[in-house]
Amino acid sequence: MHRTTCSSTIEYSNSGFEGEVPLKGGGILSGFYRKGVDERIEILKEISGLGEEDIRRLKEGLTIETANVMVENVVGMFQLPLGIATNLKVNDRDYLVPMATEEASVVAAASHAAKLALPEGFKASSTRPVVRGQVQVIGLDDLEASSLRILAAREGLIREANQFAGSLPNMGGGVIDLKVKTFERPRRMLVAEFYIDCRDAMGANAVNTVVEGIAPRIEDLTGGRSLLRILSNLTTERMARSSVVYRRDVIGDEIIEGIIAAYDFAIADPYRAATHNKGIMNGITAATIATGNDSRAVEAGAHAYAALSGRYLPLSKWRRDNKENLVGELELPLALGTVGGATRVHPVAQTALKILGVSGAGELAEVVCSVGLAQNFAALRALVSEGIQKGHMRLHSKNVAIMAGAVGGEIDRVARIMVAEGNVRASRAKEILDEIRGSPSG
Ligand code: NAD
Repeated sequence: MHRTTCSSTIEYSNSGFEGEVPLKGGGILSGFYRKGVDERIEILKEISGLGEEDIRRLKEGLTIETANVMVENVVGMFQLPLGIATNLKVNDRDYLVPMATEEASVVAAASHAAKLALPEGFKASSTRPVVRGQVQVIGLDDLEASSLRILAAREGLIREANQFAGSLPNMGGGVIDLKVKTFERPRRMLVAEFYIDCRDAMGANAVNTVVEGIAPRIEDLTGGRSLLRILSNLTTERMARSSVVYRRDVIGDEIIEGIIAAYDFAIADPYRAATHNKGIMNGITAATIATGNDSRAVEAGAHAYAALSGRYLPLSKWRRDNKENLVGELELPLALGTVGGATRVHPVAQTALKILGVSGAGELAEVVCSVGLAQNFAALRALVSEGIQKGHMRLHSKNVAIMAGAVGGEIDRVARIMVAEGNVRASRAKEILDEIRGSPSG
């Protein structure tokens, strides 16, 4: 199928491999991965409505001036490649997902796994964006009496805390609840927890401002001393969920059986669960970084959630449905913002959010959670079939060629020979390079 647009003629098809671009209405733009960088940008211009400023940002990235206001003691920039995962459909909407990662095969794997889930795609949901802020109070004799005093003043404290919540209450967010918990060990202490709806912000600064602002009132009420006043990154009130069905006639019984056995391994053994979850975070972290969000916050929340039962477990679940299809589900705390933090400061993050086209933080979390599930499926599928190295080394072969000293056209030549030989190693790359250059090694 061909569709002519005002600026170019673009080829559409309904079949192909990773790198295809889904379009509103179910068509697929074929061979995104085969195009050059400029051609891909032209396609993005058309699909995501990018302007000249966005294109400049994609090409230039962060400027040293902006970097110098973002962190301290700046001396340069550390850049990551930004790729676009294609074929992702979530809640019946097609998305192009910007991913910032240094790891070869992540973008291709997400795109391919997303494609195998078509035409239904992923079903995702998210909770209200509530993040808890904690005020630690020490030096108390009677924890129970202090708790009761705070709870008796609960309504007034929530009202007062909202005075530190900036514009959040006016936007339908702000402080919505207050709870108290106490600990006897390893130290006697009370923790007052303020629950704050952060709207479209990740919320760390917003929450920290509230708890620092209200802490003196907690001290007045209890007679104790407030020490830590900070958010928790284990945002169990701010969750994202995604599910997907991989049809038996698409992926086959053997893969389904293998993935369920691989999942059982992750349940049984935390040493496997860590790697299972790392595969999920390959997708989540890459999309988190691309959108200017705090990947350490997301990682901390995800791994703490994986261990919340007292045992470190896989974040996703895999099972068969009654038609023997494979069902995957992923649920994790996901505090992502479309405003605040670096989302509006980093120029590429702004363009990444434009490419995603999400309406707010909830939709962003739903898409990113779905990318994590797609990534998990891709890794498991490869592991239970040909193994992870074949595809990985093919995609990594150019890096190996560069490490061996290949430049320009040599990179592709060396990479291609190594892949054809099934020997992607730096020592072999060096030999091939020497052969190409006509000078024996050593
Ligand atoms: P921010 O301080 O820039 O504040 C975001 C503000 O956006 C909110 O206060 C709110 O008033 C406003 N807002 C919310 N929804 C909006 C909407 N729909 N339209 C317009 N404005 C809206 O950012 P933040 O999200 O509060 O903090 C995130 C930053 O804090 C990140 O850079 C993170 O790295 C950093 N941080 C993280 C931790 C941690 O995770 N432990 C600790 C400290 C700081």
